[in-house]
Amino acid sequence: MFYLDNSATTKVRPEVLRTFTEASENFFANPASLHRLGNEAEDLLEEARQLTGRLLGMEHIIFTSGGTEANNLAITGTARELKGRGKHIISSPTEHPSVLNTLAELEKEGFDVTLLPVGADGKVSPEDLRKQLRKDTILVTIMHVNNETGTVQPIAELARILQESRAYFHVDAVQSAGRMPLDFGMKPDLLTVSAHKLHGVKGSGVLAFNRAELRPILHGGGQEGGYRSGTVSVPHAASFAKALRLMIPNPEWGEWNRELRGFFKGYRDVRILSPEDGAPYILCGAVRGIKGEVLISALQEHGVIISTSSACSSKKQQTSHVLEAIGVEDSFIKGVFRISFGGMTSGEDIQAFKKAFHESYRLIKGETAR
Ligand SMILES: *Cc1c(COP(=O)(O)O)cnc(C)c1O
Repeated sequence: MFYLDNSATTKVRPEVLRTFTEASENFFANPASLHRLGNEAEDLLEEARQLTGRLLGMEHIIFTSGGTEANNLAITGTARELKGRGKHIISSPTEHPSVLNTLAELEKEGFDVTLLPVGADGKVSPEDLRKQLRKDTILVTIMHVNNETGTVQPIAELARILQESRAYFHVDAVQSAGRMPLDFGMKPDLLTVSAHKLHGVKGSGVLAFNRAELRPILHGGGQEGGYRSGTVSVPHAASFAKALRLMIPNPEWGEWNRELRGFFKGYRDVRILSPEDGAPYILCGAVRGIKGEVLISALQEHGVIISTSSACSSKKQQTSHVLEAIGVEDSFIKGVFRISFGGMTSGEDIQAFKKAFHESYRLIKGETAR
């Protein structure tokens, strides 16, 4: 199997799984319990929290059930806590559904959401942010790396503009943490990361923050500083920190990206949709006149696994909101495919892809011609 769908999810690393099972066996106690076993579990939890904070360059860490929950907490939590101060939120049309659908819910509660326009490269412009900022803007939420196109948003410049505002700045870094430096110069206030996108265990994420005013969305025993009730899963926390620590950017991602871009130049009906200055580990393209699903299943026959634009939209058979926002032509939009590298991708996967693509393309195009 040649797995090139790492932006949908990654395979858990054996070392990370070992941390998870060892913590489950040896640190099973409730970290909130006062007995010795509880204290030991708490020590491991706090160690994981410190390491995660240090690796992300953020002061506070809230462990959550994943990126979706962290985005919900950051956005809904800030909005509900600050609604007395203002009801305006700024975001972009290419955010993950866990951001866009949360914003849609808040609109029903009376919040006012402005989506900044994006260019063909998928980027928002700092100038547009400056223009849309208002006195009643309480939150700006913009992702770092887009999960469909690999577009890298100008987070440092956006953060600089927001310095002059009281609005909180939340960044969804699910597709960048561990794969790209998070040295924005100017730090966002809140940051979302998910474990399963970096060879961690599914159902595990964090909302990291330096500065926040959050009303909890889960109510109960007041764990995680009151921000997130529910018994904390020490195995998830410990394995999250481990996965993040082991995730190192691979310089070969950039080489493979260039190699594939060169390779696709040999196909007249293929267009690359990812911007040149995007994240090296995500390459989104489209084939004119064929369906993405057809290409994906043809490649699968060769053991090569890629996806259409994103796992979220692929099952629903809708065209992607991201690709619509960047203005992909109708003749290409049905034929979108995404290749994404991870920490376990090797040169062999790339060679297998090229061979499989060549044969699948010939087969599909040949059949269409007939
Ligand atoms: C996958 C993803 C999420 C959601 O994370 P889960 O842990 O799967 O809930 C959020 N944002 C982006 C950009 C993602 O790619």
